[in-house]
Amino acid sequence: MYAFEYFAPKNLQEATKAFNSFNDSKWLAGGMTLIPSMKLRMNAPSALIDLSSIEQLKGISIKNNILSIGAMTIHADVANSLDVINSLPALASLASGIGDPQVRNRGTIGGSIANNDPAADYPSAILGLKSKIITSKKEIDAGNFFNGFFSTSLDTDELIVKINFQIPESAIYLKFANPVSRYAIVGIFLSKYHDEVRVAVTGAASCVFRVNELEEGLFHDFCSSVVDKTDYGITNLNDDIHANSEYRRYLIKVMIKKAISILQKK
Ligand SMILES: Cc1cc2nc3c(=O)[nH]c(=O)nc-3n(C[C@H](O)[C@H](O)[C@H](O)COP(=O)(O)OP(=O)(O)OC[C@H]3O[C@@H](n4cnc5c(N)ncnc54)[C@H](O)[C@@H]3O)c2cc1C
Repeated sequence: MYAFEYFAPKNLQEATKAFNSFNDSKWLAGGMTLIPSMKLRMNAPSALIDLSSIEQLKGISIKNNILSIGAMTIHADVANSLDVINSLPALASLASGIGDPQVRNRGTIGGSIANNDPAADYPSAILGLKSKIITSKKEIDAGNFFNGFFSTSLDTDELIVKINFQIPESAIYLKFANPVSRYAIVGIFLSKYHDEVRVAVTGAASCVFRVNELEEGLFHDFCSSVVDKTDYGITNLNDDIHANSEYRRYLIKVMIKKAISILQKK
């Protein structure tokens, strides 16, 4: 690993100031992705700005049907929060299935979505729910946040502060996990609002995506036969050592149907 400067600011102002005093600073959350990538010399920032001392970035709250989760909230806290379990159990269940206990006790929701790994779980909840990403500069609508493979619409010096989720009538997350890493080979997040149904898929392509054609059909008739009737033409699926594209296409269909039938029984 190369030498680097290290700062642990106490608030957002100090953080931005420290970040901008170097050319190629990086925000450090739990370090679950960033530190290994630095060890492998795939990343060599001259300064790390550690966000762990900024209280404003932590915590979970609910107000006016909006569940807010601070960017530095670790996966284990989301999984075990009674607020999340009671208001949005699909999100608690998603968090409880991330990696292993070590990862869940270091990794953060902000780090996960800023990284936008194509097989990560949280991006499917961001798109599969009505959500907004609140940053140090602005509010970003979920649909405008993920740009593609490991890419987001964040500016280099922009910091995720919290994520606001509008609580749906019901929702479910199903994951067909890689048995070693627990990353998603395919993950489906399905939610029902009074005016919309959302279906988001992770793990299957170079970036998380929504299945818009199916959403419209399911809004009018929430039933698994709609999945067979819809030509949702999903193309460019991942083809790798874990699963080929045809298998992923099959999994998407089967898992969406399973998700629908579970929600129908609730
Ligand atoms: C063995 C292993 C198994 C895993 N399994 C899964 C899994 O099953 N499912 C899954 O979804 N994930 C999985 N992960 C990923 C893990 O859950 C973390 O969410 C992810 O690695 C990001 O880690 P972190 O929060 O520590 O962020 P870091 O590694 O500290 O940072 C990641 C990136 O995000 C940027 N960043 C961090 N916080 C912010 C912020 N607030 N604003 C802007 N940018 C920010 C950093 O600069 C960096 O570029 C796994 C990781 C490991 C190591």
